[in-house]
Amino acid sequence: MKEQEKTDILENVKCLVIKVGSAVLTDEEGLSVRAISRLVDQIAILHDKGLDIILVSSGAVAAGRKRLLERGITLKANDLPSKQAASAIGQCMLMHEYDNAFSRFGKTAAQVLLTRDDMQNRERFLNTRNTLQRLLEMRVIPIINENDTVAVQELKFGDNDTLSAMAVDITGADLSINLTSAQGVFDKNPDKNPEAKILSCLENIANLDLEKMCDGKTCVGTGGMYSKLRAARRVAQLGVTTIIASGQIPFVLDKIFAGEAIGTWVLAEKKKVSHRKFWLAYHTDPEGDIFVDKGAEKVLISKGSSLLSIGVTAIEGTFSAGALVRIMSAKNELIGVGLSNYDSEELALIKGKNSKEIEDILGAAPYEEVIHRDNLFLDAAL
Ligand code: GLU
Repeated sequence: MKEQEKTDILENVKCLVIKVGSAVLTDEEGLSVRAISRLVDQIAILHDKGLDIILVSSGAVAAGRKRLLERGITLKANDLPSKQAASAIGQCMLMHEYDNAFSRFGKTAAQVLLTRDDMQNRERFLNTRNTLQRLLEMRVIPIINENDTVAVQELKFGDNDTLSAMAVDITGADLSINLTSAQGVFDKNPDKNPEAKILSCLENIANLDLEKMCDGKTCVGTGGMYSKLRAARRVAQLGVTTIIASGQIPFVLDKIFAGEAIGTWVLAEKKKVSHRKFWLAYHTDPEGDIFVDKGAEKVLISKGSSLLSIGVTAIEGTFSAGALVRIMSAKNELIGVGLSNYDSEELALIKGKNSKEIEDILGAAPYEEVIHRDNLFLDAAL
């Protein structure tokens, strides 16, 4: 990547999502007021330059746990209710510190707690977007975290990396910075290879095998490097670059904006996906699989056609009409995701059949295609 390209990106940012991990905000003492204050100092400078900033902050569970320990209460197991209880305590502490720190600069912070459920429901998704937009218009700094106390395991984002990719989508941000405990993305597992180096830039992330790249130690934290790269890949699909850097470097944001070579830049993809398709692919987990033959695979990929029943060879899972499903090749490789017009039972009956036969088989043929091209997203980063 040319230096000029970096400069162009940094100079043209209007709206920035900063994700900060628990390891950056906490130390052995628990929540680090100093770490929060340093982060806020840097954010305030960028905010004063006119940037809209959305902070996605972890740290609630870690802070809550520590507070309980200080008060002599030991959380039983590492089970969900314990984590949820810890997050309820820690979230309050976290926001208290952010509020104080931003107030020193005369700035206002706002707490936004989200669950994946909120993203699944289109109305709630749009409400969230409107609220965030209004906050940004008022020059408030929204601080987003997962609403851990209510989110059930299956409906959790699970890690704030995924949540930060959603935040980029929902706010239309034009840069994403992921501050973590690692220095960036290593070219090899640094545990096994002492000569491993930080990659300064990752281009065409869609073509990289993220799981392979993330074997071993670089996968620390709740989400690990894999979830950071997967989130960065999603963000790249929106045409937005992510910088993965260590939040422990003093003045890291100042340094990034001064053009210093810090962390790993995961570059935006040239071909942008629409916000609608992004939402469609990532608002929820797929509920089943539709396997297609080679012919269908070819037209899906080369022509961007809809998926017809004739190309369907097998169905896995039980899902209703309208569900998000994975589209799998004959070789069991992911082709994409889409919203199925038919439920899994209906699909089992019409698979391999011509669209004209659907009515005879099912008694009605409300849709000609199994997945309409408008509801199809190839290259989903699942
Ligand atoms: N929501 C969790 C917390 O505030 C953190 C999840 C994460 O770090 O990815 O502690």
